[in-house]
Amino acid sequence: MVNEGPNNLSEIQAQWVTVRGKIRQKIGDAQFASWIKVLTLEDYSDQKVTLSVPSSFIRTRIIEQYLDIIKSYWYVQNLKINDIKIIVTKNDKTNLEELQKTVLGKKEKKNPQDVFKSISSDLDSRFTFTNFIVGKPNELAFAAARRVSESEDVPFNPLFLYGGVGLGKTHLMHAIAHEIKKRNPIRRVIYMSAEKFMYHFIKALRFKNTVDFKEQFRNVDVLMIDDVQFISGKDSTQEEFFHTFNSLIDQRKQLIISADKSPQDLEGIEERMRSRLGWGLVADIHPLTYELRLGILQAKEEKLSSRISSNILEFLAHKITTNVRELEGALNRLSAFSSLVGREISLDMVQDLLKDLLKSSQRKVNIEEIQKKVSQHFNIKVSDMSSARRSRTVARPRQVAMYLSKNLTSRSLPEIGRRFGNRDHTTVIHAVKKVEELRNKDVSFDEDVQLLIRMLES
Ligand code: ADP
Ligand code: MG
Repeated sequence: MVNEGPNNLSEIQAQWVTVRGKIRQKIGDAQFASWIKVLTLEDYSDQKVTLSVPSSFIRTRIIEQYLDIIKSYWYVQNLKINDIKIIVTKNDKTNLEELQKTVLGKKEKKNPQDVFKSISSDLDSRFTFTNFIVGKPNELAFAAARRVSESEDVPFNPLFLYGGVGLGKTHLMHAIAHEIKKRNPIRRVIYMSAEKFMYHFIKALRFKNTVDFKEQFRNVDVLMIDDVQFISGKDSTQEEFFHTFNSLIDQRKQLIISADKSPQDLEGIEERMRSRLGWGLVADIHPLTYELRLGILQAKEEKLSSRISSNILEFLAHKITTNVRELEGALNRLSAFSSLVGREISLDMVQDLLKDLLKSSQRKVNIEEIQKKVSQHFNIKVSDMSSARRSRTVARPRQVAMYLSKNLTSRSLPEIGRRFGNRDHTTVIHAVKKVEELRNKDVSFDEDVQLLIRMLES
Protein backbone atom coordinates (compact mmCIF):
# COMPACT_ATOMS: atom_id res chain seq x y z
CA MET A 1 0.00 0.00 0.00
CA VAL A 2 1.83 3.04 -1.19
CA ASN A 3 0.64 6.20 0.38
CA GLU A 4 -0.73 8.40 -2.36
CA GLY A 5 -2.09 11.16 -0.24
CA PRO A 6 -0.75 14.66 -0.14
CA ASN A 7 2.13 13.62 2.07
CA ASN A 8 5.12 13.92 -0.17
CA LEU A 9 8.64 14.15 1.12
CA SER A 10 8.78 17.94 1.13
CA GLU A 11 5.72 18.14 3.31
CA ILE A 12 7.21 15.57 5.61
CA GLN A 13 10.38 17.64 5.65
CA ALA A 14 8.37 20.67 6.76
CA GLN A 15 6.70 18.65 9.49
CA TRP A 16 10.07 17.42 10.63
CA VAL A 17 11.17 21.01 11.16
CA THR A 18 8.12 21.66 13.33
CA VAL A 19 8.57 18.44 15.26
CA ARG A 20 12.21 19.26 15.92
CA GLY A 21 11.23 22.69 17.18
CA LYS A 22 8.81 21.19 19.66
CA ILE A 23 11.29 18.60 20.85
CA ARG A 24 13.90 21.30 21.35
CA GLN A 25 11.52 23.24 23.56
CA LYS A 26 10.82 20.14 25.52
CA ILE A 27 14.31 18.74 26.09
CA GLY A 28 16.42 21.89 25.98
CA ASP A 29 19.24 23.05 23.71
CA ALA A 30 21.99 20.84 25.03
CA GLN A 31 20.16 17.55 24.73
CA PHE A 32 18.80 18.64 21.41
CA ALA A 33 22.25 19.36 20.04
CA SER A 34 23.62 16.00 21.15
CA TRP A 35 20.80 13.76 20.09
CA ILE A 36 18.18 15.25 17.83
CA LYS A 37 20.23 17.50 15.61
CA VAL A 38 22.14 14.56 14.23
CA LEU A 39 18.99 12.98 12.85
CA THR A 40 18.47 13.28 9.11
CA LEU A 41 15.24 12.66 7.29
CA GLU A 42 15.90 9.96 4.73
CA ASP A 43 12.63 8.78 3.38
CA TYR A 44 8.88 8.64 3.63
CA SER A 45 6.99 5.81 2.05
CA ASP A 46 4.34 3.32 2.94
CA GLN A 47 3.34 5.60 5.82
CA LYS A 48 6.74 5.13 7.39
CA VAL A 49 9.25 7.84 8.07
CA THR A 50 12.89 6.85 8.01
CA LEU A 51 15.44 8.92 9.85
CA SER A 52 19.15 8.25 9.89
CA VAL A 53 21.96 8.73 12.35
CA PRO A 54 25.72 8.36 11.98
CA SER A 55 26.31 5.52 14.44
CA SER A 56 24.54 2.62 16.01
CA PHE A 57 25.44 3.89 19.44
CA ILE A 58 23.50 7.09 18.81
CA ARG A 59 20.70 5.11 17.26
CA THR A 60 20.28 2.94 20.33
CA ARG A 61 20.31 5.92 22.60
CA ILE A 62 17.75 7.79 20.53
CA ILE A 63 15.46 4.80 20.39
CA GLU A 64 15.66 4.38 24.14
CA GLN A 65 15.22 8.01 25.05
CA TYR A 66 13.70 10.04 22.29
CA LEU A 67 11.83 7.92 19.80
CA ASP A 68 8.73 8.04 21.93
CA ILE A 69 8.76 11.84 21.95
CA ILE A 70 9.52 12.07 18.25
CA LYS A 71 6.66 9.76 17.49
CA SER A 72 4.18 11.48 19.73
CA TYR A 73 4.88 14.91 18.24
CA TRP A 74 4.94 13.65 14.71
CA TYR A 75 1.86 11.50 14.93
CA VAL A 76 -0.03 14.51 16.15
CA GLN A 77 1.19 16.50 13.14
CA ASN A 78 0.32 13.80 10.69
CA LEU A 79 -2.15 11.08 11.41
CA LYS A 80 -1.14 9.13 8.35
CA ILE A 81 2.26 8.22 9.66
CA ASN A 82 2.18 4.90 11.40
CA ASP A 83 5.83 4.31 12.05
CA ILE A 84 9.13 6.06 12.41
CA LYS A 85 12.30 4.12 11.85
CA ILE A 86 15.84 5.05 12.61
CA ILE A 87 18.66 3.65 10.56
CA VAL A 88 22.40 4.08 10.64
CA THR A 89 23.86 5.86 7.61
CA LYS A 90 25.80 3.80 5.15
CA ASN A 91 29.15 5.47 5.71
CA ASP A 92 29.38 3.92 9.13
CA LYS A 93 31.07 0.81 7.74
CA THR A 94 31.27 -1.01 11.00
CA ASN A 95 27.53 -1.09 11.16
CA LEU A 96 26.87 -2.19 7.64
CA GLU A 97 25.40 -5.46 8.71
CA GLU A 98 23.09 -3.86 11.18
CA LEU A 99 22.07 -1.33 8.61
CA GLN A 100 21.13 -4.06 6.21
CA LYS A 101 19.09 -5.72 8.85
CA THR A 102 17.44 -2.45 9.73
CA VAL A 103 16.65 -1.61 6.15
CA LEU A 104 15.26 -5.07 5.68
CA GLY A 105 12.97 -4.17 8.51
CA LYS A 106 11.47 -7.23 10.04
CA LYS A 107 14.70 -8.83 11.19
CA GLU A 108 15.52 -5.86 13.30
CA LYS A 109 14.07 -7.37 16.47
CA LYS A 110 15.08 -10.90 17.24
CA ASN A 111 12.05 -12.62 15.93
CA PRO A 112 8.63 -11.16 16.41
CA GLN A 113 7.00 -14.58 16.30
CA ASP A 114 8.94 -15.60 19.40
CA VAL A 115 7.70 -12.59 21.22
CA PHE A 116 4.11 -13.49 20.37
CA LYS A 117 4.53 -17.07 21.40
CA SER A 118 5.80 -16.04 24.77
CA ILE A 119 3.25 -13.32 25.29
CA SER A 120 0.14 -15.12 24.08
CA SER A 121 -1.46 -17.52 26.53
CA ASP A 122 -2.16 -21.12 25.65
CA LEU A 123 -5.40 -22.00 23.97
CA ASP A 124 -7.64 -24.80 25.15
CA SER A 125 -8.02 -27.20 22.25
CA ARG A 126 -11.53 -28.15 23.34
CA PHE A 127 -12.79 -24.58 23.08
CA THR A 128 -13.83 -24.70 19.43
CA PHE A 129 -16.90 -23.48 17.56
CA THR A 130 -18.03 -27.04 16.98
CA ASN A 131 -18.02 -27.69 20.69
CA PHE A 132 -20.01 -24.56 21.41
CA ILE A 133 -23.73 -25.10 21.73
CA VAL A 134 -25.79 -22.21 20.45
CA GLY A 135 -29.16 -21.04 21.72
CA LYS A 136 -31.06 -17.79 22.14
CA PRO A 137 -28.94 -16.46 25.02
CA ASN A 138 -25.64 -16.70 23.16
CA GLU A 139 -26.54 -16.56 19.48
CA LEU A 140 -25.49 -12.97 18.93
CA ALA A 141 -22.14 -13.47 20.62
CA PHE A 142 -21.62 -16.66 18.65
CA ALA A 143 -22.49 -15.04 15.32
CA ALA A 144 -20.20 -12.11 16.02
CA ALA A 145 -17.37 -14.43 16.98
CA ARG A 146 -17.80 -16.44 13.79
CA ARG A 147 -17.93 -13.34 11.70
CA VAL A 148 -14.68 -12.01 13.12
CA SER A 149 -12.92 -15.32 12.62
CA GLU A 150 -14.06 -15.71 9.04
CA SER A 151 -13.27 -12.22 7.92
CA GLU A 152 -9.83 -11.17 6.68
CA ASP A 153 -10.92 -7.65 7.31
CA VAL A 154 -11.98 -5.96 10.54
CA PRO A 155 -15.78 -6.12 10.55
CA PHE A 156 -16.25 -4.28 13.83
CA ASN A 157 -13.71 -2.94 16.24
CA PRO A 158 -13.57 -3.76 19.02
CA LEU A 159 -15.77 -6.78 19.39
CA PHE A 160 -16.86 -6.58 23.00
CA LEU A 161 -18.24 -9.80 24.49
CA TYR A 162 -19.76 -9.72 27.91
CA GLY A 163 -21.71 -11.93 30.24
CA GLY A 164 -21.61 -13.60 33.64
CA VAL A 165 -19.07 -16.10 34.84
CA GLY A 166 -18.95 -19.44 33.08
CA LEU A 167 -21.17 -18.49 30.18
CA GLY A 168 -18.63 -19.13 27.45
CA LYS A 169 -16.71 -15.91 26.83
CA THR A 170 -13.31 -17.50 27.05
CA HIS A 171 -14.54 -20.46 25.04
CA LEU A 172 -15.64 -18.16 22.21
CA MET A 173 -12.38 -16.25 22.21
CA HIS A 174 -10.32 -19.41 21.97
CA ALA A 175 -12.64 -20.63 19.23
CA ILE A 176 -12.00 -17.46 17.24
CA ALA A 177 -8.26 -17.98 17.59
CA HIS A 178 -8.48 -21.64 16.51
CA GLU A 179 -10.60 -20.77 13.52
CA ILE A 180 -8.38 -17.94 12.33
CA LYS A 181 -5.31 -20.12 12.58
CA LYS A 182 -7.04 -22.89 10.70
CA ARG A 183 -8.13 -20.62 7.88
CA ASN A 184 -4.94 -18.70 7.58
CA PRO A 185 -1.98 -19.86 9.62
CA ILE A 186 -0.08 -16.71 8.74
CA ARG A 187 -2.40 -14.43 10.61
CA ARG A 188 -1.08 -13.64 14.03
CA VAL A 189 -3.37 -13.86 16.98
CA ILE A 190 -2.60 -12.97 20.56
CA TYR A 191 -4.90 -14.06 23.34
CA MET A 192 -4.29 -13.03 26.92
CA SER A 193 -5.99 -12.14 30.12
CA ALA A 194 -6.38 -8.47 30.94
CA GLU A 195 -4.29 -9.05 34.03
CA LYS A 196 -1.43 -10.35 31.98
CA PHE A 197 -1.81 -7.54 29.51
CA MET A 198 -1.73 -4.99 32.31
CA TYR A 199 1.26 -6.67 33.88
CA HIS A 200 3.25 -6.34 30.68
CA PHE A 201 1.93 -2.90 30.11
CA ILE A 202 2.81 -1.57 33.53
CA LYS A 203 6.23 -3.14 33.27
CA ALA A 204 6.71 -1.29 30.01
CA LEU A 205 5.56 1.95 31.58
CA ARG A 206 7.95 1.53 34.44
CA PHE A 207 10.88 1.01 32.12
CA LYS A 208 9.63 3.76 29.84
CA ASN A 209 9.30 1.17 27.17
CA THR A 210 5.82 1.77 25.91
CA VAL A 211 7.05 2.21 22.39
CA ASP A 212 8.50 -1.28 22.44
CA PHE A 213 5.36 -2.50 24.05
CA LYS A 214 3.23 -1.16 21.24
CA GLU A 215 5.82 -2.44 18.81
CA GLN A 216 5.12 -5.98 19.99
CA PHE A 217 1.60 -5.65 18.74
CA ARG A 218 2.49 -4.12 15.43
CA ASN A 219 2.70 -7.38 13.60
CA VAL A 220 -0.35 -8.81 15.25
CA ASP A 221 -3.57 -9.13 13.33
CA VAL A 222 -5.91 -9.98 16.14
CA LEU A 223 -5.50 -9.09 19.80
CA MET A 224 -7.84 -10.60 22.36
CA ILE A 225 -7.97 -9.46 25.95
CA ASP A 226 -10.06 -11.53 28.30
CA ASP A 227 -11.77 -10.24 31.44
CA VAL A 228 -11.08 -6.53 31.14
CA GLN A 229 -13.11 -5.85 34.25
CA PHE A 230 -9.75 -6.30 35.96
CA ILE A 231 -8.30 -3.33 34.15
CA SER A 232 -8.63 -0.42 36.40
CA GLY A 233 -5.91 1.50 37.97
CA LYS A 234 -4.13 4.74 38.26
CA ASP A 235 -5.26 7.43 35.87
CA SER A 236 -1.88 7.69 34.22
CA THR A 237 -1.88 3.97 33.50
CA GLN A 238 -5.32 4.15 32.02
CA GLU A 239 -4.32 7.15 29.99
CA GLU A 240 -1.47 5.21 28.43
CA PHE A 241 -3.62 2.20 27.98
CA PHE A 242 -6.17 4.31 26.20
CA HIS A 243 -3.54 5.52 23.74
CA THR A 244 -2.27 2.03 23.10
CA PHE A 245 -5.79 0.84 22.57
CA ASN A 246 -6.51 3.65 20.15
CA SER A 247 -3.36 3.21 18.19
CA LEU A 248 -4.10 -0.50 17.75
CA ILE A 249 -7.53 0.34 16.44
CA ASP A 250 -6.08 2.99 14.16
CA GLN A 251 -3.70 0.39 12.79
CA ARG A 252 -6.73 -1.71 12.01
CA LYS A 253 -5.84 -4.50 14.35
CA GLN A 254 -8.86 -6.51 15.30
CA LEU A 255 -9.44 -6.18 19.02
CA ILE A 256 -11.63 -8.57 20.90
CA ILE A 257 -12.43 -7.78 24.48
CA SER A 258 -14.40 -9.70 27.07
CA ALA A 259 -15.78 -8.60 30.40
CA ASP A 260 -18.38 -9.60 32.92
CA LYS A 261 -20.27 -6.35 32.36
CA SER A 262 -21.18 -4.06 29.51
CA PRO A 263 -18.82 -1.18 28.76
CA GLN A 264 -21.22 1.25 30.48
CA ASP A 265 -21.28 -0.80 33.64
CA LEU A 266 -17.56 -1.39 33.96
CA GLU A 267 -16.29 0.20 37.12
CA GLY A 268 -13.04 2.01 37.67
CA ILE A 269 -12.66 2.86 34.03
CA GLU A 270 -12.47 6.31 32.59
CA GLU A 271 -15.49 7.61 30.72
CA ARG A 272 -13.64 8.01 27.41
CA MET A 273 -12.35 4.49 27.57
CA ARG A 274 -15.77 3.19 28.40
CA SER A 275 -17.34 4.85 25.41
CA ARG A 276 -14.49 3.79 23.15
CA LEU A 277 -14.98 0.18 24.19
CA GLY A 278 -18.55 0.40 23.02
CA TRP A 279 -17.71 1.73 19.56
CA GLY A 280 -17.63 -1.57 17.78
CA LEU A 281 -20.02 -4.40 18.32
CA VAL A 282 -21.15 -5.14 21.84
CA ALA A 283 -22.56 -8.63 22.18
CA ASP A 284 -23.78 -10.06 25.45
CA ILE A 285 -24.35 -13.60 26.57
CA HIS A 286 -27.53 -13.81 28.59
CA PRO A 287 -28.12 -16.20 31.43
CA LEU A 288 -28.81 -19.62 29.98
CA THR A 289 -32.31 -20.83 29.32
CA TYR A 290 -33.50 -24.27 30.28
CA GLU A 291 -33.37 -25.39 26.63
CA LEU A 292 -29.80 -24.30 26.23
CA ARG A 293 -28.75 -25.87 29.51
CA LEU A 294 -30.26 -29.15 28.44
CA GLY A 295 -28.72 -28.87 24.97
CA ILE A 296 -25.28 -28.35 26.47
CA LEU A 297 -25.72 -31.27 28.86
CA GLN A 298 -26.81 -33.57 26.04
CA ALA A 299 -23.88 -32.58 23.87
CA LYS A 300 -21.43 -33.09 26.69
CA GLU A 301 -22.97 -36.35 27.76
CA GLU A 302 -22.37 -37.81 24.31
CA LYS A 303 -18.65 -37.34 24.79
CA LEU A 304 -18.55 -39.15 28.12
CA SER A 305 -17.65 -42.79 28.39
CA SER A 306 -20.47 -43.61 30.80
CA ARG A 307 -24.15 -43.07 29.99
CA ILE A 308 -26.36 -40.76 31.98
CA SER A 309 -30.08 -41.05 31.43
CA SER A 310 -32.07 -38.21 29.91
CA ASN A 311 -34.29 -37.73 32.94
CA ILE A 312 -31.19 -37.01 34.97
CA LEU A 313 -29.98 -34.54 32.38
CA GLU A 314 -33.36 -32.81 32.57
CA PHE A 315 -33.17 -32.77 36.33
CA LEU A 316 -29.76 -31.11 36.17
CA ALA A 317 -30.92 -28.58 33.59
CA HIS A 318 -33.75 -27.62 35.93
CA LYS A 319 -31.70 -27.42 39.07
CA ILE A 320 -28.37 -26.00 38.02
CA THR A 321 -29.11 -22.63 36.56
CA THR A 322 -25.99 -20.67 37.32
CA ASN A 323 -23.57 -21.37 34.49
CA VAL A 324 -22.07 -23.91 32.14
CA ARG A 325 -19.08 -24.50 34.32
CA GLU A 326 -21.30 -25.85 37.07
CA LEU A 327 -23.28 -27.96 34.64
CA GLU A 328 -20.06 -29.47 33.38
CA GLY A 329 -18.83 -30.01 36.90
CA ALA A 330 -22.00 -31.86 37.83
CA LEU A 331 -21.88 -34.03 34.75
CA ASN A 332 -18.25 -34.93 35.25
CA ARG A 333 -18.85 -35.88 38.83
CA LEU A 334 -21.75 -38.13 37.92
CA SER A 335 -19.82 -39.71 35.12
CA ALA A 336 -16.82 -40.40 37.32
CA PHE A 337 -19.01 -41.95 39.96
CA SER A 338 -20.94 -44.05 37.50
CA SER A 339 -17.81 -45.54 35.98
CA LEU A 340 -16.49 -46.18 39.46
CA VAL A 341 -19.52 -48.17 40.57
CA GLY A 342 -19.96 -49.64 37.10
CA ARG A 343 -23.65 -48.93 36.61
CA GLU A 344 -26.06 -46.23 35.71
CA ILE A 345 -26.89 -43.84 38.47
CA SER A 346 -30.32 -43.12 39.88
CA LEU A 347 -31.92 -39.79 40.65
CA ASP A 348 -31.51 -40.46 44.38
CA MET A 349 -27.82 -40.92 43.96
CA VAL A 350 -27.65 -37.71 41.99
CA GLN A 351 -29.30 -35.73 44.75
CA ASP A 352 -26.80 -37.09 47.18
CA LEU A 353 -23.73 -36.71 44.98
CA LEU A 354 -24.51 -33.15 44.03
CA LYS A 355 -25.82 -31.91 47.36
CA ASP A 356 -23.46 -28.97 47.52
CA LEU A 357 -23.97 -27.90 43.90
CA LEU A 358 -27.72 -28.15 44.05
CA LYS A 359 -27.80 -26.12 47.19
CA SER A 360 -25.58 -23.29 45.99
CA SER A 361 -27.54 -23.10 42.79
CA GLN A 362 -30.82 -22.85 44.56
CA ARG A 363 -29.96 -19.53 45.92
CA LYS A 364 -27.47 -17.18 44.47
CA VAL A 365 -25.90 -14.84 46.92
CA ASN A 366 -24.17 -11.79 45.60
CA ILE A 367 -21.57 -9.47 47.02
CA GLU A 368 -23.97 -6.56 47.64
CA GLU A 369 -26.21 -8.79 49.68
CA ILE A 370 -23.28 -10.06 51.70
CA GLN A 371 -22.06 -6.53 52.36
CA LYS A 372 -25.53 -5.47 53.43
CA LYS A 373 -26.17 -8.38 55.77
CA VAL A 374 -22.73 -8.24 57.33
CA SER A 375 -22.96 -4.48 57.91
CA GLN A 376 -26.35 -4.90 59.57
CA HIS A 377 -25.09 -7.69 61.70
CA PHE A 378 -22.07 -5.75 62.97
CA ASN A 379 -23.92 -2.47 63.04
CA ILE A 380 -21.73 -0.51 60.67
CA LYS A 381 -22.52 1.48 57.54
CA VAL A 382 -22.58 -0.38 54.24
CA SER A 383 -20.34 2.31 52.78
CA ASP A 384 -17.64 1.25 55.22
CA MET A 385 -17.33 -1.98 53.28
CA SER A 386 -15.53 0.02 50.65
CA SER A 387 -14.18 2.89 52.69
CA ALA A 388 -10.54 3.39 53.50
CA ARG A 389 -11.16 3.26 57.26
CA ARG A 390 -8.98 0.77 59.02
CA SER A 391 -10.21 0.75 62.57
CA ARG A 392 -10.97 -2.71 63.93
CA THR A 393 -14.72 -2.00 64.21
CA VAL A 394 -15.03 -1.75 60.45
CA ALA A 395 -11.99 -3.72 59.31
CA ARG A 396 -13.10 -6.99 60.91
CA PRO A 397 -16.64 -7.00 59.48
CA ARG A 398 -15.14 -6.07 56.13
CA GLN A 399 -12.87 -9.09 56.35
CA VAL A 400 -15.81 -11.29 57.19
CA ALA A 401 -17.70 -9.99 54.17
CA MET A 402 -14.71 -10.65 51.92
CA TYR A 403 -14.45 -14.15 53.33
CA LEU A 404 -18.13 -14.81 52.67
CA SER A 405 -17.88 -13.37 49.18
CA LYS A 406 -15.07 -15.78 48.45
CA ASN A 407 -16.95 -18.75 49.84
CA LEU A 408 -20.51 -18.09 48.82
CA THR A 409 -20.11 -16.54 45.37
CA SER A 410 -18.10 -17.53 42.35
CA ARG A 411 -16.43 -14.14 42.12
CA SER A 412 -12.67 -14.10 41.73
CA LEU A 413 -10.32 -12.59 44.27
CA PRO A 414 -9.49 -9.50 42.18
CA GLU A 415 -13.18 -8.92 41.54
CA ILE A 416 -13.95 -9.17 45.24
CA GLY A 417 -11.12 -6.79 46.04
CA ARG A 418 -12.47 -4.27 43.60
CA ARG A 419 -15.92 -4.42 45.05
CA PHE A 420 -14.50 -3.63 48.45
CA GLY A 421 -13.21 -0.18 47.61
CA ASN A 422 -10.75 -1.23 44.94
CA ARG A 423 -8.60 -3.25 47.26
CA ASP A 424 -5.92 -5.56 46.02
CA HIS A 425 -6.62 -9.28 45.71
CA THR A 426 -3.87 -9.94 48.25
CA THR A 427 -5.95 -8.03 50.78
CA VAL A 428 -8.79 -10.45 50.11
CA ILE A 429 -6.49 -13.44 50.54
CA HIS A 430 -5.32 -11.98 53.82
CA ALA A 431 -8.93 -11.47 54.97
CA VAL A 432 -9.88 -15.03 54.10
CA LYS A 433 -6.93 -16.41 56.05
CA LYS A 434 -7.59 -14.17 58.99
CA VAL A 435 -11.26 -15.16 59.24
CA GLU A 436 -10.41 -18.84 58.93
CA GLU A 437 -7.90 -18.47 61.70
CA LEU A 438 -10.38 -16.66 63.95
CA ARG A 439 -13.12 -19.17 63.30
CA ASN A 440 -10.78 -21.86 64.52
CA LYS A 441 -9.87 -20.24 67.76
CA ASP A 442 -12.81 -18.05 68.72
CA VAL A 443 -16.06 -19.92 69.24
CA SER A 444 -18.35 -16.95 69.42
CA PHE A 445 -16.82 -15.43 66.32
CA ASP A 446 -17.35 -18.73 64.55
CA GLU A 447 -20.99 -18.70 65.61
CA ASP A 448 -21.39 -15.21 64.17
CA VAL A 449 -20.03 -16.37 60.85
CA GLN A 450 -22.18 -19.48 60.82
CA LEU A 451 -25.24 -17.41 61.53
CA LEU A 452 -24.41 -15.08 58.68
CA ILE A 453 -23.94 -17.99 56.30
CA ARG A 454 -27.30 -19.43 57.29
CA MET A 455 -29.01 -16.10 56.84
CA LEU A 456 -27.46 -15.57 53.45
CA GLU A 457 -28.20 -19.04 52.19
CA SER A 458 -31.75 -19.35 53.35
P1 ADP B 1 -16.43 -17.49 30.89
O1 ADP B 1 -15.14 -17.18 30.22
O2 ADP B 1 -17.59 -16.74 30.30
O3 ADP B 1 -16.38 -17.38 32.37
P2 ADP B 1 -15.90 -20.12 29.85
O4 ADP B 1 -15.73 -19.79 28.42
O5 ADP B 1 -14.67 -20.38 30.62
O6 ADP B 1 -16.77 -19.01 30.59
O7 ADP B 1 -16.90 -21.35 29.97
C1 ADP B 1 -16.95 -22.20 31.09
C2 ADP B 1 -17.08 -23.62 30.66
O8 ADP B 1 -18.34 -23.80 30.03
C3 ADP B 1 -16.05 -24.01 29.63
O9 ADP B 1 -15.63 -25.33 29.87
C4 ADP B 1 -16.79 -23.94 28.30
O10 ADP B 1 -16.30 -24.87 27.37
C5 ADP B 1 -18.21 -24.28 28.71
N1 ADP B 1 -19.22 -23.61 27.89
C6 ADP B 1 -19.69 -22.35 28.05
N2 ADP B 1 -20.65 -22.09 27.15
C7 ADP B 1 -20.78 -23.18 26.40
C8 ADP B 1 -21.63 -23.53 25.29
N3 ADP B 1 -22.50 -22.68 24.80
N4 ADP B 1 -21.49 -24.76 24.76
C9 ADP B 1 -20.61 -25.63 25.29
N5 ADP B 1 -19.80 -25.37 26.31
C10 ADP B 1 -19.88 -24.17 26.87
MG1 MG C 1 -13.36 -16.55 31.06
